This record gives sequence, C-alpha cells and structure tokens, in this order.
Amino acid sequence: MNHFFNSCTSDYKSSSIIVFGVPYDGTTSYRPGARLAPNRIRLESVGIETYSPYLDKDMNDYQFHDSGDSLIALGNVEKTLNTIYNSAKKYYTDNKKTLMIGGEHLVTYPTVKACLESYPNLRVVHFDAHTDLRDSFLGEEMSHATVLKKIADELGDNRLFQFGIRSGTKKEFQYAKNHQYIEIAGVKTLPDIISKLQGHPIYITLDVDVLDPSIMSGTGTPEAGGITYKELLEALLVLKDQNIVGADVVELAPDYDNSGVSTATACTLIRELLLLMAK
Ligand code: MN
Ligand code: MN
Repeated sequence: MNHFFNSCTSDYKSSSIIVFGVPYDGTTSYRPGARLAPNRIRLESVGIETYSPYLDKDMNDYQFHDSGDSLIALGNVEKTLNTIYNSAKKYYTDNKKTLMIGGEHLVTYPTVKACLESYPNLRVVHFDAHTDLRDSFLGEEMSHATVLKKIADELGDNRLFQFGIRSGTKKEFQYAKNHQYIEIAGVKTLPDIISKLQGHPIYITLDVDVLDPSIMSGTGTPEAGGITYKELLEALLVLKDQNIVGADVVELAPDYDNSGVSTATACTLIRELLLLMAK
C-alpha cells in the first residue's frame, strides 16, 4: 500500500503544497463509492511519471507532502465538515497550498471556506457536469448537489466560474447566468474570461464527471455529453501562470470502472494540478 500520492514524500515543514484525502461519500444520492478514491488513487499513482511534458515540470523538483486522510465520522455530516475545515484551516494558516482528494463534492465546501479566510479575494473555477447549485437536496442543505451554492453564497456574485456544466434544474442554470459565470457543456471560453481571474488567488474544484463517461465511467453520477481529457487539460493550461492556491479532484468512484482507466486519469489530473500550483 502506498501511503502517499506518487512522489509526495517531503516532510510537512519544507513543503509548500499539502495533499490530503477525504474518504467521504455520505450524501451521495445515486451510486456511492467515492470514499474509496483517496487510497485507490495513492495506490495507482505509482504507475504515472513524475514529469509532465505539458508543463515541462517534474514533481521531483518540488516538495509535496501527503498528510494522509481526514478521519471521517461517516454518519455525521456536521462533524465530518468540521474535521475537514480544521485540517484545511491548519494548512492555510501555515501558509500552505492544498490539493484535496475526495470524496464526494460536498467536501469541497469546508476546504474552500478555509481557503477563502486566508484569501478574501478568492475566485473559484469549477469543472463539473452538474451545476451543484441547489438550495437544498432531498431536504438537506448540506449535499453534493448544493455545494457550489454554499460556496457562491460565501464568495458573493461574479466570483464563481463554471465549465462543462450540462445537468441541473432550470432554476440553477438561471441562478448561474444571473449571478456567476457559466459555460454550458464546454471549456472553450476559459481564455476569454481569464482577465476576470488574473491577479486573484484561484481555487480549482474538479469534479471528474466533467469528463465524458466514455473516458470517466468511474464516478457516482455519470452524465453524457462531457468534454475530452485533452479539452480539460488545455483549459487547465490556460491557468498555468495564475496564482492557484488550492485545488481538488472529487467524485471518483473507482469501482465503477473495472478497467482502472478512471483512476489512472484522476492520477494524471492530480499531477498536473500539483505542478500548476508548484512555484
Ligand atoms: Mn459536483
Ligand atoms: Mn458532477
């Protein structure tokens, strides 16, 4: 068993970027299994190179620390969110950047909340098939289906930028158009809005179901009509000179993909995000 992601073996003190896992899928409504992602990702991450030819950067030239998984009280949402918040708060207070491995998408909320407290001008770039902008879902305010609404409420208008979105209620799409930025089912307008991100700290939240299910079947709520890996990568590269202070990869549910390709894909995405943040 690999207890750290790929080559993230530096100690806490000397690392400016901290990897941590959140094995939680307690509000998942359709197909559970995202709780298995952090350790499966660590296990499979030995299979990818440390070098990114896209960024011409090597993980071995930077220091990353994998602090393991948050200890999750699976049946207790409030306690779980507090635990995640406390971990993220410590990392940001210690002036670290974070790369969080979910878990379902709700776990992004406490992480971004802690990040926002250190970076009041934060902008959030959100890749997903789903709007995740409900006010409540199945009677619950805290859910994978409400997470970006919770975050948008903290951020205020025009600071959330959503890409790849192709599923949600009419009300959610209307909200996004009126209050935030949204590109429906694609990522090609990211270069057009880069001036709105420039000069601001950025948090990237990446729900793997933004990718087409033909290349990302290992996820809880697959949605047809997704983008390709190359389209996603090109969008991330648009952000390469920006000040990215946090990122996450959520909603991988590895057991729905017997081929293992989904997990391998999540591993390379995490490498690219780590190297995007590394200075
Ligand atoms: Mn999501
Ligand atoms: Mn989604």
